[in-house]
Amino acid sequence: MFYRVNDGVPRYRSSLLENIPHGFSTRHGGVSECEHTKSMNVAFNRGDDDATVIKNFEIFAHAVGADPRRGVMLGQIHSCDVMTVTEKEFGLGVYKKSDISLDGFVTNTPGALLCVRVADCVPILFADSKAGVIGAVHSGWRGSVGKIAENCIERMCELGAVRENIRASVGPCICKNCYEVGEDFVAECENRLGHRLCAEFIEEQNGKPHADLKRLNYLVLREAGLAENNIDVSTLCTCCDPDEFFSHRYHKDKRGTMCAMIALEA
Ligand SMILES: [Zn+2]
Repeated sequence: MFYRVNDGVPRYRSSLLENIPHGFSTRHGGVSECEHTKSMNVAFNRGDDDATVIKNFEIFAHAVGADPRRGVMLGQIHSCDVMTVTEKEFGLGVYKKSDISLDGFVTNTPGALLCVRVADCVPILFADSKAGVIGAVHSGWRGSVGKIAENCIERMCELGAVRENIRASVGPCICKNCYEVGEDFVAECENRLGHRLCAEFIEEQNGKPHADLKRLNYLVLREAGLAENNIDVSTLCTCCDPDEFFSHRYHKDKRGTMCAMIALEA
């Protein structure tokens, strides 16, 4: 179950990850002052100067109980690639410029903070507390169809995680009603995933296909071996609630970007 916390930095937490420092941001609680990025924008080059974005990153990291200097946040390209974060990567993409772009992270390094950015796309946070391994992915439609969630689980297992013990929380993102898709989307899904799976998350509404990315990621997580009660899916939609969230579909390109963070305790 997801619940809202507001101690000055409004955010959502998943009860499934209760003992782990983590959070899904809203558009509130930061220091951005542009009309369209107000106020918790964590993406560079959207109108805020870099110092403001870094300050927001730090505010949010502290709110979730993590050390921003051990954080990593890279450019995202709707890939299915997942990187292993070690001490060497601490600060990458935040304090240290990086030209690496990818969409997922795993780590077993104590203190590491993983951050993915979203504005309608699906953020998923992972943890196997017993093994001390965490993960985070940005799963847009390409990442969802390409099963980046499954790649993340595989990389976590390489670090010692066990599928039966991995918990995954699928955060606030665009809902099926808001997510009308084109015929090209449907064709690519049919082609890559097969008709049976597509029928489980694509549905006609008023004669137009709509996709349920939360459902697709849930199915991918189940197929990858996660137990039903180890998956938490948020019912919140970023596009239905534009005063709470930044939404690419609702605000178009004139918007800030939110994040999901998870950290391993030092
Ligand atoms: Zn919606």
